[in-house]
Amino acid sequence: MIQDTIAAISTAVGEGGIAIIRISGPNAIAGTAALFQSRTDLREADSHTVHYGHIVHPATGEQIEEVLVTLMRGPRSFTAEDVVEINAHGGVVAVKKVLDVVLMQEDMRLAEPGEFTKRAFLNGRIDLMQAEAVIDLIRSKSDRAFSIARKQAEGLLSKRIKALRQTVIELLAHIEVNIDYPEHDVEEMTTAYIRDQSQIALDEIAKLLKTANEGKILREGIMTAIVGRPNVGKSSLLNMLAQENKAIVTDIPGTTRDVIEEYVTLNHIPLRLLDTAGIRETSDLVEQLGVERSHTALAEADLILFVLNYNEPLHADDRELLDRMAGRQVVLVINKTDLPGKLDMEEIEKRFSPEAIVRMSVLQEAGLDYLEKAISGMFFEGKLDSGDLTYVSNVRHIALLKRAQQSLLDGIAASEAGIPIDVMQIDVRSAWESLGEIIGDAVGDSLIDQIFSQFCLGK
Ligand code: GDP
Ligand code: ZN
Repeated sequence: MIQDTIAAISTAVGEGGIAIIRISGPNAIAGTAALFQSRTDLREADSHTVHYGHIVHPATGEQIEEVLVTLMRGPRSFTAEDVVEINAHGGVVAVKKVLDVVLMQEDMRLAEPGEFTKRAFLNGRIDLMQAEAVIDLIRSKSDRAFSIARKQAEGLLSKRIKALRQTVIELLAHIEVNIDYPEHDVEEMTTAYIRDQSQIALDEIAKLLKTANEGKILREGIMTAIVGRPNVGKSSLLNMLAQENKAIVTDIPGTTRDVIEEYVTLNHIPLRLLDTAGIRETSDLVEQLGVERSHTALAEADLILFVLNYNEPLHADDRELLDRMAGRQVVLVINKTDLPGKLDMEEIEKRFSPEAIVRMSVLQEAGLDYLEKAISGMFFEGKLDSGDLTYVSNVRHIALLKRAQQSLLDGIAASEAGIPIDVMQIDVRSAWESLGEIIGDAVGDSLIDQIFSQFCLGK
């Protein structure tokens, strides 16, 4: 039973237009009412209403801030508890002052990071998967990553996991009936049934896992290295990509790599451009191939944008570089197509499939859409815009899906080897438990704490 009431500034700290202090718990309404000078008494007010007034110091009566207070009575609130949100004007000092007097109230304390969402989970308002999506929402770096997280937050993926679990529980029930009533003598049918039913579940797990890679890419961005000889236009390409995305260029939290990277989106495809310092500097990546950093960038890249100059014949260095790209995902950017062609396209076309060759003129800002198409074809089988946004993208979910998959495979193997059905029951049960762990069924406190500690304050 949750006894105390938590409060925190829920908007980003800084000079925003407004700032919101969120309060949740049994004393949210009365605690705020004690500080709120207004025509309405919050304690009497209806749920989902907004009230104008002033926050005053409870001891001195001094007016601290002009505010709008939103009231949401549990369970119809984000946490399923009574929630009050105080909209303050947003000056850092004023907001801090309001929070201070709120925290002076009885049973009131500062919320831990993620604690509002954690309460929503503990109160059964959302499942663990949805809660984790809230973290993703906050961290989304592209429209698409945001949409994916939203779908997950809405529970789309949870629904699929629950359906999957249903399939497994039916299987488990069937096995248990056979254990409890062995005289039913349905052994033969059971083996076939176990295999078929397991296969249904396995197919769905495989589908979900297949989305995992795409989901990861969309969330984290395709690790991309721009490679090519000096003067082919690497820096120009980088600048063009970065220019369109000025607002999105950001650092990636939690990564401690010595390669400097920039995050851009090419239409909907998020790219993490590696070693952008190496490209931006006058000395080029090729000249620095001996440098450890560039090696790291190349090794880490999921995608290599190999830039060639259309206006120059293929150079021995190009061939050597191209040879090193064998087995990698390479898009060949033929740049400077505004100039006369001197590049031996026949040799190029022998080495690369047409889908991987993109003609561009960075100078004339032409060909960017072809580049996008080539990358999308390579990483998303071209179906990036299908609108199906149920991607499994969380490493914890992926690991658990794989564990469930293994358990089911073990179960089938056991069943086919004629191993007693009680043994198989253990496998199927463990598959069911792994799937349950994804949505937060029967997970330990330490895992819950760990997950919610990733949140920022006020969520
Ligand atoms: P890098 O050394 O590979 O990074 O190449 P830069 O981006 O520094 O470009 C080298 C030169 O080529 C610059 O003078 C660019 O303006 C020019 N350049 C880049 N892209 C194009 C293009 O599409 N067409 C033409 N004509 N020139 C280009
Ligand atoms: Zn350059």
